Amino acid sequence: MPSDCLFCRIIAGELPSAQIYADDSVVAIRDISPQAPTHILLLSRKHIASVRDVAEEDHDLIGKICDVGTELATREGIADDGYRLVINVGRDGGQTVDHLHVHMLGGRHMAWPPG
Ligand code: AMP
Ligand code: ZN
Repeated sequence: MPSDCLFCRIIAGELPSAQIYADDSVVAIRDISPQAPTHILLLSRKHIASVRDVAEEDHDLIGKICDVGTELATREGIADDGYRLVINVGRDGGQTVDHLHVHMLGGRHMAWPPG
C-alpha cells in the first residue's frame, strides 16, 4: 500500500471517513465534499492508481464495484429515481486522488453535458 495515498490510508483506518460499506475488495465512504444529496465513493481496497491501470486480473473487482453500487443505491433510496456513476481519469478528467474510485451521485437531477 502506498503510504502517501489518501484512500489507502482511509481504507487502512489511518484517516477518518464516513464509511458505509466494506467487504474484502470494496469500501464505500461518503464524499467529504458532497456534490449531491447522496455522494458516495466506491473504492477498490486494492491500490490501483486509475481506471487506466485496471488489468485483466481486476475485472472481477470492477464487477464487484458495480454490484456494490447497485446495492447501495437501493439502500440510499435513489435507485428508482436514478443516479450517476462517474470515474474521473487523469488531469482533464478531473481526477484528484490517484486511487481507483467511482463516484455515485444521486438525490437530485443530474445535468448533461457535465462541466
Ligand atoms: P476525484 O476528483 O475524482 O479524484 O475524486 C476525489 C474525491 O475525493 C473528491 O470528490 C473529494 O471531495 C473526495 N475526498 C477528498 N478527500 C476526502 C476524504 N478525506 N474523505 C472523503 N472524500 C474525500
Ligand atoms: Zn491507494
